[in-house]
Amino acid sequence: MAQVQFFSGESIPLEMHKVRVVQKLSLLPVEQRQKCIEEAGNNTFLLKNRDVFIDMLTDSGVNAMSDNQMAAMMIADDSYAGSETFFRLERKLHEIFGMDFFLPTHQGRAAENILAEAFVRQGSVIPMNFHFTTTKAHITRLGGRVEELIIDEGLRPDGNHPFKGNFDLEKLRECIKRNGAENIPFIRIEAGTNLIGGQPISLQNIKDVSRITHENGILLLMDASLLQDNLFFIHEREAACKHMSIREITRAVADELDIIYFSARKFGFGKGGGICIRDRKVCERMKELIPVFEGFLTYGGMSVREMEAITVGLDETMDEQVISQGPQFIEFMANEFIKNGVPVVTPPGGLGCHINAREFLPHIDAHEYPAASLACAAFIAGGIRGMERGTLSEQREPDGTEPVAAVELLRLAVPRRVFTLSQVKYVIDRIIWLHKHRDLVGGLRFVEEPSVLRFFFGRLEPIGDWQQKLVQQFRKDFPESL
Ligand SMILES: *Cc1c(COP(=O)(O)O)cnc(C)c1O
Repeated sequence: MAQVQFFSGESIPLEMHKVRVVQKLSLLPVEQRQKCIEEAGNNTFLLKNRDVFIDMLTDSGVNAMSDNQMAAMMIADDSYAGSETFFRLERKLHEIFGMDFFLPTHQGRAAENILAEAFVRQGSVIPMNFHFTTTKAHITRLGGRVEELIIDEGLRPDGNHPFKGNFDLEKLRECIKRNGAENIPFIRIEAGTNLIGGQPISLQNIKDVSRITHENGILLLMDASLLQDNLFFIHEREAACKHMSIREITRAVADELDIIYFSARKFGFGKGGGICIRDRKVCERMKELIPVFEGFLTYGGMSVREMEAITVGLDETMDEQVISQGPQFIEFMANEFIKNGVPVVTPPGGLGCHINAREFLPHIDAHEYPAASLACAAFIAGGIRGMERGTLSEQREPDGTEPVAAVELLRLAVPRRVFTLSQVKYVIDRIIWLHKHRDLVGGLRFVEEPSVLRFFFGRLEPIGDWQQKLVQQFRKDFPESL
C-alpha cells in the first residue's frame, strides 16, 4: 500500500478523495441527548437521525457515493424487463467474479431468504465460520441449524492473529462427518466476519475449506457483503498475495466458490444485493423465487439508478486506494484507544472499530447488556451512535433462556468515505472520557422484548439512575461544551 509519509513523522490516514456535497450535522446538548436515548427505549436503532451527531450505527447503505456513481445514475435505463442497466451490472459481476449467472435481490438478507428457501429444510445443518444475524434468522425459520467453526482465536477479542475469521479445518471435517454431507446443503464462508469485529479470512483458508467442501460434494457459498475490507486485508497480511492486485485476489477467492451473495449496501457502495452462481442447475433452483419475493429477473427489487451506481461502485472496490481508507481509519481509531487503555478488538478489522464492552464495563452482568449500555453511554457522551453486537443481538433459545454472546462489542462503524479525521478524533476523545468514568455506567433491562431480531426494535430502561449521573459528570468536566 502506497501510504503517504509525513515530514513530521506523524502516522495518520489521509483521505484520497475530496468532499463535494455536504450534509449539515447538529449536536444537541448532553441533557437533550440523554432525553433522546430515553425516548428511543435505550436502543440506538430507535434514535432519530436528526438527533445524532456522528452516526456510526452501520456501514450499510450509508457509504458515500462518488461523482462517477452519481453520473452513472443519470444514464439508467428504466424498464421492467430487459433493462440495459441490469446487463451492465451483470457483465461487471461476471468480469470480477467470473461466474456465469446473476440473480438480483433488493438487499443482502433478501438473497439469504432466496438461498434458504431453495436449500434449507427441516433438519438441515449449515456450517459456517460465524453466523450473521439475518442469515441465522432465515436458516432457523425454515428448521435448519447453524454450526460455527471459526478458529478459537476468532472468539477472543484480543490477540494478533491476522485472520481471525478463518475456519478451523479440523472442526469442519468433524462437522461434515458427524452430520453427514447429505444433511449439509451448503457451507457458508462469511468474508470480513461481521459479528466478531469485521475480521478477515485468508485466501489460503478459503482454498482449504473449498477442498474439504468439494471432496464431500457440498456446495461452497460466500457471503461477500464485507468482502471489500477482506480483500484489502488479504493484500496487506497474506505474504503470498502481496504482489497480487485487488482484482487478482478477488478472482482467486471467487474461483474457489460455487455461489457468492452480497449486500450492495456495503459491497459496491450502493443499495441492493444479489447472488452470483457458477452452475446453471444451481441457478435454476433459485431463479423462480426471484419474481415471487423480489421482482422481475432484471431488477430484483432494485431501482435502475441504484444498479448503475453499484456497477461503478464495484469497479471502485477493485481500487486499492479506495478500499484502504476504511481499514486505515479503523486502525487509527484502534491504536488511539489502545494507547489510552480503552479495550478494543485486535487486530483492527474492517467495517468499524469494535470496543470490548465486557472489559470496558466488567461490573455489568452479561444479562444486563454491557455493550448496549455502552452504546447508550456513548450517545450521551457525544451524540455518537454505535451498535450493540453482543448478548442483546442473540436470540433466546426455544425454552426462553438467554445465551450469552461469545463476544460483547460496541461497534463504531466507519461508513466508507463519509467521515473526516477530525470527526473520528472527536469520537475517540469522547470514548476516552467515557472510559475514565466507566464506573458510572450501569446496565439495562427489557421493557418490551420482541421474539425475533429483538435488537432492532426492543425497548429497554436503565437499571438505576446512572444516566443522570453521567450527564452531571459531563457538565462538571465540560461546563461550556455541547
Ligand atoms: C449486512 C449484512 C448482511 C445483510 O445485508 P442487508 O443488505 O443489510 O440485508 C448479510 N451478511 C453480512 C455479513 C452483512 O454484513
